Amino acid sequence: MTQVTVKELAQTVNTPVERLLQQMREAGLSHSSADQVVTDTEKQKLLSHLKGNTKLDEPRKITLQRKTQTTLKVSGSKTVNVEVRKKKTYVKQSPDELATEQQRELEAQREAEEAARLKAEEEARQRAEEEIRLKAEEEARLKAEEEARQQAAAKAAQEVAEAAAKAATETKPEEVVEEVVANKAAPAAPAAASDERKREEPRRPVAPPVAGKRDEDERRDRKHAQHRPSLKEKDKVSSPRVVRSAGDDEDDGFGGRRGGRNKSKLKKRNQHGFQNPTGPVVREVALGETITVAELAQQMSVKAAEVIKFMFKMGSPATINQVLDRETAQLVAEELGHKVKLVSENALEEQLAESLKFEGEQVHRAPVVTVMGHVDHGKTSLLDYIRRAKVAAGEAGGITQHIGAYHVNTDRGMVTFLDTPGHAAFTAMRARGAQATDIVILVVAADDGVMPQTEEAIQHAKAAGVPIVVAVNKIDKPDADPDRVKHDLAGRDVIPEEWGGDTQFVHVSAKAGTGVDELLEAILLQAEVLELTATPSAPGRGVVIESRLDKGRGPVATVLVQNGTLRQGDMALVGVNFGRIRAMLDENGKPIKEAGPSIPVEILGLDGTPDAGDELTVLTDEKKAREVALFRQGKFREVKLARAQAGKLENIFENMGQDEKKTLNIVLKSDVRGSLEALQSSLSGLGNDEVQVRVVAGGVGGITESDANLALASNAVLFGFNVRADAGARKIIEQEGLDLRYYNVIYDIIEDVKKALTGMLGSDVRENILGIAEVRDVFRSPKFGAVAGCMVVEGMVHRNRPIRVLREDIVIFEGELESLRRFKDDVAEVRAGMECGIGVKSYNDVKVGDKIEVFEKVEVARSL
Ligand code: GDP
Repeated sequence: MTQVTVKELAQTVNTPVERLLQQMREAGLSHSSADQVVTDTEKQKLLSHLKGNTKLDEPRKITLQRKTQTTLKVSGSKTVNVEVRKKKTYVKQSPDELATEQQRELEAQREAEEAARLKAEEEARQRAEEEIRLKAEEEARLKAEEEARQQAAAKAAQEVAEAAAKAATETKPEEVVEEVVANKAAPAAPAAASDERKREEPRRPVAPPVAGKRDEDERRDRKHAQHRPSLKEKDKVSSPRVVRSAGDDEDDGFGGRRGGRNKSKLKKRNQHGFQNPTGPVVREVALGETITVAELAQQMSVKAAEVIKFMFKMGSPATINQVLDRETAQLVAEELGHKVKLVSENALEEQLAESLKFEGEQVHRAPVVTVMGHVDHGKTSLLDYIRRAKVAAGEAGGITQHIGAYHVNTDRGMVTFLDTPGHAAFTAMRARGAQATDIVILVVAADDGVMPQTEEAIQHAKAAGVPIVVAVNKIDKPDADPDRVKHDLAGRDVIPEEWGGDTQFVHVSAKAGTGVDELLEAILLQAEVLELTATPSAPGRGVVIESRLDKGRGPVATVLVQNGTLRQGDMALVGVNFGRIRAMLDENGKPIKEAGPSIPVEILGLDGTPDAGDELTVLTDEKKAREVALFRQGKFREVKLARAQAGKLENIFENMGQDEKKTLNIVLKSDVRGSLEALQSSLSGLGNDEVQVRVVAGGVGGITESDANLALASNAVLFGFNVRADAGARKIIEQEGLDLRYYNVIYDIIEDVKKALTGMLGSDVRENILGIAEVRDVFRSPKFGAVAGCMVVEGMVHRNRPIRVLREDIVIFEGELESLRRFKDDVAEVRAGMECGIGVKSYNDVKVGDKIEVFEKVEVARSL
């Protein structure tokens, strides 16, 4: 064993001499200088001392090395030395560390407890603050209300005085007085049903704070009392209120807690106070066909959350905007202790329909005509020619403005033109249930023949059941071939009269004006066959063709009078709008006092801009008009929701109607004519004695707005075979909840339709479009081939999902992505609004303007 000095040892263990000496002294050794010798025994002593005391000095990581050497004899005389080195490293966990571990756990536990405690404290503090805030708000509100009350009292007094003065000069004094009274105070006795409703409505609190609501009642009572002191007692008696004692401190039954202390303070401050009911208040809940959770809660004066909670307990979880059917709503209301009154949802509309009478002498009315046809075939030219030649002739100053419709007088009678060429306007109106057109003029250029939009026009007219008169246009052109047009149309079931059909063909030139008179004559002849009549002595009824908000004149609507006579000063109800007709202008912008059947007019005075296709009715009573308009506004959303459900392919079987043969209507668009024809014939052959399929419209190309409107109008399902809906179409589909299905296998369409027909559409694999990227630029990369520089325009593009390449909404490739990159990085997904580079696997013909659609397939269970 070697002996070392303290200094040497210090060097070996890498510790300063002083510190080592100190440690040695602590270990009970007597060394005091660096040169003293340390024996092995002393080293052991020191080591065991250090082990015991300074655990930190103990090696944490120990590496063991063992070296063995053996000698191998190779081929007699040669020897080879073999050295085997073994090395093992292990990390030792000192008891200290173990202890620390435990300590850490304990610490964490303590911390968690502490955090929970702090959180609870914080919550308690927030609650307290909230209470204080509410209290303060309550007080402020009461104060403000008291002030408002005083002001209102003064104002109301003044108004009543004014009204009385006015009443004396008005022709109908009772009505005015009643109006004022109805606005300022609840009438003593309901004069009419509508009065009753009006008075009921404000009694329903908007939100649960019952106290605030009661206060409002009270305020009204008081206001009432101030003006009609004699009614004060009566009103008080009739108010269903129960006074609570000041010490009463429980839940008021409406989810609100009001402390007695708080309340007595309030009482002191404001003698009127608010009084809480001691027991639950039983409300009468008026239930129509449907009601949302929020509305139901409102009618019961409870929080929507209460209803949701209750429904959850009942086992049917609901959301605040969920529409409940009448049975469910009734169950909930009754279980919560309220009474239910079932009302017919459409009582108002029914009353309205009954009140409108069209009695009187029926006379002939002019036909209303829409011009349709392929683009550039001369629709506008024809409309313009007729307008110029026939309308402007007698008008001083000519045409001052364009209102979307005009009428012409001929020797044989009047014809009204809807000056909105294009199928979209026609179908959009029909989609809203309005049939404004009696006859369609189908314009076909003789030099161009039947084109896709010509076919579309035929489909639209046929779907609407409107007869067609064909105007074979551009007959002046040298290459005009009217016979080909005749032939082509006959092939599409538009058969000329001379061939035994019922369609008149007239050769015209919109440019030269040839044949226009004959065309008008043909229209009038067709009109005679239709025997169009109206009752001019009845109140006016019409349909909105277009409307706009005019800066100076407010809402302006172009209306086609369809029956009766519309007069200036009439009270008009138009869709969800209403108003007294302040002024009426004819198609030349001249003021007129009245307009009879088939006359287009512009009306001013509505409270908003109605939609094209909205119906106009004239009512005698403004209150009624307002009431129905408001009712319709509320109904509007629900109708849309209901329609969204009814239009689904899954539900189509149930909604096909009970009468005669049930029909499944389909609007079908396809990428190529071949597949379109194959689909049309196989689908049409699918029916039996009870059910049938009707392809309302079929065409080549993407799904357009006009297709969507047609589907809406004819309650059809939209099928896209290798084609997609454009943005306009998608908007309508989404808004109206239409059923749009994309397919790429003919067999799949046929299977789905078969299943729908047998009511067996089970679970359904449907495609979800996850994102769409638009190709803005194409680069060539040696590694990936063509790389499309894209902008993600919708949703999100995912790296690992199937894709399709679309050109003009037609599918041209289906496959997967090779690469998805943002700048230089490979990414898994890119969201809308960002640019990216896309490489499509085994497809190199991407072009600028193409769309890359990323989709997924999901299984959707059939919903009933
Ligand atoms: P729309 O797209 O169907 O409304 O078609 P337009 O009325 O805009 O007409 C398209 C083009 O055809 C215009 O350049 C017209 O001048 C021309 N056009 C329209 N009708 C006739 C016609 O009867 N004869 C000739 N030669 N050209 C016509």
